[in-house]
Amino acid sequence: MSNEQPKIPQATAKRLPLYYRFLKNLHASGKQRVSSAELSEAVKVDPATIRRDFSYFGALGKKGYGYNVNYLLSFFRQTLEEDEVTEVALFGVGNLGTAFLNYNFSKNNNTKIVMAFDVDERKVGTTVGGVPVYHLDELEERLRGDIPIAILTVPAAAAQALTDRLVAQGIKGILNFTPARLNVPNHIRVHHIDLAIELQSLVYFLKNYPSPS
Ligand code: ATP
Repeated sequence: MSNEQPKIPQATAKRLPLYYRFLKNLHASGKQRVSSAELSEAVKVDPATIRRDFSYFGALGKKGYGYNVNYLLSFFRQTLEEDEVTEVALFGVGNLGTAFLNYNFSKNNNTKIVMAFDVDERKVGTTVGGVPVYHLDELEERLRGDIPIAILTVPAAAAQALTDRLVAQGIKGILNFTPARLNVPNHIRVHHIDLAIELQSLVYFLKNYPSPS
């Protein structure tokens, strides 16, 4: 199925897991169909965007009927390759890193943090949320090119040197929670999440664009 699909725009692809999670809940509650308005309310994406996104999946909603939940679910399952677990390594078992290890995306069946690294001898050798914490010195030996994704929750000053080592190990994607802007070759994908900036921008929007009502 996936070979025949047209390429989905990146912005749409980013919303897939959101849609997928909601549809799974709907399915579990026995619902067979859903309207773009209902979806919109649940996932906080406007209905026009949802309709456009879904048209890429070949799911054309019918007026007065909505979308077929089973069809969408099977599409998402195949597209997101639920059967295949993507292994993730986490770097920096501080406050944020510890929270991620305990959380471990257990509601996503297709990603799993399988190992963590730190330089603090008090943390090395422990397990957090069931995930072993290794010394950073063991990075090359442990990763061996097998793990495609890294989460960075190290101090900003440590991020670039670590990234260079990860790139040399064949990492494909980095979820960067540090404020550092990372230099990587073009074929590596970095998603940057700066929580402080997100919060600041939310405050700015609330102040400057208060919602009408
Ligand atoms: P957080 O930023 O997650 O709230 P924190 O304030 O507890 O964490 P930080 O100083 O940001 O601590 O460090 C996060 C973690 O990263 C610490 O456990 C620290 O030992 C670890 N760390 C520092 N340098 C490196 C490095 N080069 N590689 C891996 N881990 C590192």
